Amino acid sequence: MLKSKGCWVNQLLGLFFVLISFLSLAIEKQIGSEGRYSVGQTLTPFEGLKALVIKPESFWGWDAAVFGALHERHFDITYEKPEALEDFGFLSQFDIVASNIRRKFTPKQVENLRRFIADGGAFYGSWGGPMATPDLLKVCKIANPRSVRITGMTLLDNPLSKGIDEREIPFPPIIGHSRSGKWEMVAMTPIEGGIPVAKDADGNILGVLGEYGKGRTAVLGFGPENEKYFAKREVGPVMMDNLLNWLLEHKISAPRKWTGIVEVSLPARTEVKGVFLNGKPATNPQITEFGSLKKIALDLKSVEVGKEATITLTYEPLIDAPNVETVIHMPWGSFPYFIRNRNGTPEMLAEWLKSINATVCQPLLREASGFAYYKGMPEDTISPEVANYRGNFLAEFIDECHKRGIKVIGGIYLESPTTLKRYPDVAVVVRKTGELNTKQACFNNPKGMEYNLETVKNLVENYKLDGVILDDNFELQDYDCCCSYCKEDFRRYCERKGIEFRDPSQISWGEPLWFHWIECKLEATRRLTLSIAEIVHRHNIPFGGWVGVGMRQTHLKEVFDFIGGMVYTTPPRAIRLMLWSLGKCKFICLLWAPNEKPERMEQEFREAIFAGNSAVGFWIYPPGHIGAEGYGGWRMVEGSYEAIARAFSNAEKWWLEFYRENILAGDARFAIIEGKFRRDKMTLKVKNFGKIVSERILGALDLSALEKQK
Ligand SMILES: [Zn+2]
Repeated sequence: MLKSKGCWVNQLLGLFFVLISFLSLAIEKQIGSEGRYSVGQTLTPFEGLKALVIKPESFWGWDAAVFGALHERHFDITYEKPEALEDFGFLSQFDIVASNIRRKFTPKQVENLRRFIADGGAFYGSWGGPMATPDLLKVCKIANPRSVRITGMTLLDNPLSKGIDEREIPFPPIIGHSRSGKWEMVAMTPIEGGIPVAKDADGNILGVLGEYGKGRTAVLGFGPENEKYFAKREVGPVMMDNLLNWLLEHKISAPRKWTGIVEVSLPARTEVKGVFLNGKPATNPQITEFGSLKKIALDLKSVEVGKEATITLTYEPLIDAPNVETVIHMPWGSFPYFIRNRNGTPEMLAEWLKSINATVCQPLLREASGFAYYKGMPEDTISPEVANYRGNFLAEFIDECHKRGIKVIGGIYLESPTTLKRYPDVAVVVRKTGELNTKQACFNNPKGMEYNLETVKNLVENYKLDGVILDDNFELQDYDCCCSYCKEDFRRYCERKGIEFRDPSQISWGEPLWFHWIECKLEATRRLTLSIAEIVHRHNIPFGGWVGVGMRQTHLKEVFDFIGGMVYTTPPRAIRLMLWSLGKCKFICLLWAPNEKPERMEQEFREAIFAGNSAVGFWIYPPGHIGAEGYGGWRMVEGSYEAIARAFSNAEKWWLEFYRENILAGDARFAIIEGKFRRDKMTLKVKNFGKIVSERILGALDLSALEKQK
């Protein structure tokens, strides 16, 4: 994932989409020594409040950031399309509605939202919010939303700035892999009664709070839920707390409607055999996976205030295994740099991985140009360092990793040059212009995949990999190809759906048929990945793909055993949305390491564990990569490798802390007054205290059986 500029021309398209999908951000300067965010599951004022998060039209990292911020604060969240707003009965059950990105609502949706707010509901539109819906903006006391590109902002005196002494909020020049002096934010004009919350250097207002009827609104052109935009990240969560406390002031103090449902968690790798309540089998316990946790929902409505209940879970005996995999993604050129600059051998590379406590390693093996870092297809151009190595570098590397208990997942891009040599007529046809992209094969066309399938077959037959992952050029919606094959494919799609076909080149962005066009491409992407999955699965190893953090990509859970997400420009908590919807499909949370401060790397890794991830790692070159010019400008800051080694060595310790704080969730009147975790059975005695408890664990909880595990 993520290519550098320069000679890797064929990767530019992929890079472009990565950049677009992440749009933004930056890290830098300063780090809160111990950010209060993402860490810990202490009870919040928002326990049991109901939030409706509207699915965005554009799937950037922002949609996940809002969800993550609410989920982390224990809101009871529903994630729905805006059509859901048309049922007022449905809408009226929520305490807050959150919408992000430039969402456009229909008149009926606006009218229901207006009524919802007037009746006392809260509405939050972040980073753009309902920019294209003037009627709703009026309810929110703003007009004239517009984009601005700025380097920072000044917080004004208002409920959001409570407890924040430093009002100047500069934005950092680099966020993850993104660099920019100026970041896109949304400016707006407050109308009467609107409370401005921040301004830029030109005096443009960047956010407005409002009251309407009995309800409250906030539209912010910057998102406090994504603190990676702020040089001082720690102000983000403070602003977010202030925002939610203000929006929901009346809801927080009002009596809560408790559900009587609690969630008890086990490690995700547990295979549950039985669920018992007071010794009797529970009726239909709902069991779901959320990253590193297996959640069992139990109905405790019958447990009255002041009463206790005993929950018993039985499962297959747990064996020693990590609850969090520690992953190193080694990008393009890692093998050659390692060989060239250190006289590196497979043994040395595997030993380095072991020294930093990695359990999984994911080298990129093939470029989109067909350039390979292993001995594969006869047509391949192989990296000279690998070609001249006396043995078989990849095969030996896999063996050396296996000797050390490290798994190796091979990463590959789909290629075009050899394919186009074989079938010149399978080039992508750009939808808008009708022009041929002679460098890019259409992977929707089976001929465009023929050679790619051969390369995958060759790879898994010749190397003892523990898995295969596609790098990020396989998602067909990113190409907007309108070749004759894709047109025919869309015609068949329309027939199946019973909708009227029109030539895709005539469809404009945003019209109903546009969404079908995208859906058709998503369907084709599933078909394409399935054809590879069949080959990989013949070797009984898992298959996955790298995607952006936005939600659209979760459709791939039908095909992939695991999805890898590049969590570079959003905080790790954004992954909660993916984990919440992926279920059994695993997720690798990949963090950005080059040019990053070592202490921040450690902190982000910890945050990623506390967001629920069961596999966390870094995009990083192994030692031997010199960095700076000629290497894409990516550089490992001194101390980075040591930071990763420390972070990885703490993975299980931090996971256990996370587990302890999540062992009981849901209805916040319940707390554990006694409990014991065994290898094959867990017993928890819980009590209904009748109001939000001060802590979830109020008695002795013995987790020593888990502590003994590696
Ligand atoms: Zn095509």
